[in-house]
Amino acid sequence: MTPLGAVLARRIAAEGPMRLDHYMAECLLNPDHGYYATRDPFGASGDFITAPEISQMFGEVLGLCLAQVWLDQGAPARFILAEPGPGRGTLMADLLRSIAAVPGLSDAAEVHLIEASPTLRAVQRARLGARPVTWHDSLDTLPEGPLFLIANEFLDALPIRQFERRGRAWAERQVGLSPEGALIPGLAPPVALERLEPRLADTAEGDVVEISPGAPAFAGAVAGRIAARGGVAIFIDYGNWRSLGDTFQALRGHTPESPWANPGAADLTAHVAFEPLAEAARAAGARPSAMTPQGVLLERLGITARAERLARGLTGAALDTHIAAHRRLTHPAEMGHLFQTLAITPAGAPLAPGFDPAADPTF
Ligand code: SAH
Repeated sequence: MTPLGAVLARRIAAEGPMRLDHYMAECLLNPDHGYYATRDPFGASGDFITAPEISQMFGEVLGLCLAQVWLDQGAPARFILAEPGPGRGTLMADLLRSIAAVPGLSDAAEVHLIEASPTLRAVQRARLGARPVTWHDSLDTLPEGPLFLIANEFLDALPIRQFERRGRAWAERQVGLSPEGALIPGLAPPVALERLEPRLADTAEGDVVEISPGAPAFAGAVAGRIAARGGVAIFIDYGNWRSLGDTFQALRGHTPESPWANPGAADLTAHVAFEPLAEAARAAGARPSAMTPQGVLLERLGITARAERLARGLTGAALDTHIAAHRRLTHPAEMGHLFQTLAITPAGAPLAPGFDPAADPTF
């Protein structure tokens, strides 16, 4: 058992079964043994690879999207350019390089990163070179001002709760101990939950529904700032409109494993539900886009033209890798459809380029 596994087993023995969101938070962010708190998990030798690590094109075309929104909103002389969960800082570095082409834009951007991991803060510092950067533990300390925020694979790391349907009630999944002392999943007694009342209409006996308490709260707080001061938020993650089914997963060395096997040593994620993000944005007075597939968004933002341009300087294996990266980011059978995106803009402002408008006629 991992060191964190031993700590959690002792706690469960003393206090009883743990909620899944509490387990996930400990596994990812425990200051001594948490997954993100203690390592740099990215790249070929790490546990997983993300879109910005696949190709510079990802950050470049998203940077141009932000640039267009900045122009559409009257080119504010100073704005907050923020990224929660920036990993190795690659997306921000690529984005800053591409927006440098727009006169005045880069100088107007004040870079703020929200990062829980001291290890990754150091990697981000090195990646962003001389550029002044301020780090934050949470959104709360970001300064006031127009907010341009981009988040790739951040919301999927926020802890979730899981509920299994039993009649018209819901049994919460928890982490308990086997007779041998191993961590195992279990179920709390079913209770009726007002919050899941709407899901009685589209679920059946035994179905699992996930709730991320943090994701809509984060999107709502961001949307409130955007409604008040302008800007845009772009969320990119694997997920669906509405949560249905168990999507809690552990990944270690690029291989899926049981989320109970190596607490603190494997990455834990869950699919993001986009409907609660859109609802939170609306409740905060901002305008959500429709959920738009990553492949569609990147194509509309010009990734293929950019890919052709970059391909001109490449031959042999480097060219093959480049072509594969374009395909991987955009093709529906790869990340193009599994990953979805949502933009939030002020209610009266134009939609961010590349995004589908929400079907709701009030916007
Ligand atoms: N966006 C990056 C990294 C994604 S991994 C990329 O696309 O490559 C998730 C990132 O979120 C990591 O940087 C991790 O340390 C950070 N993170 C996870 N939970 C967090 C939290 N609650 N607060 C702040 N950062 C968090």
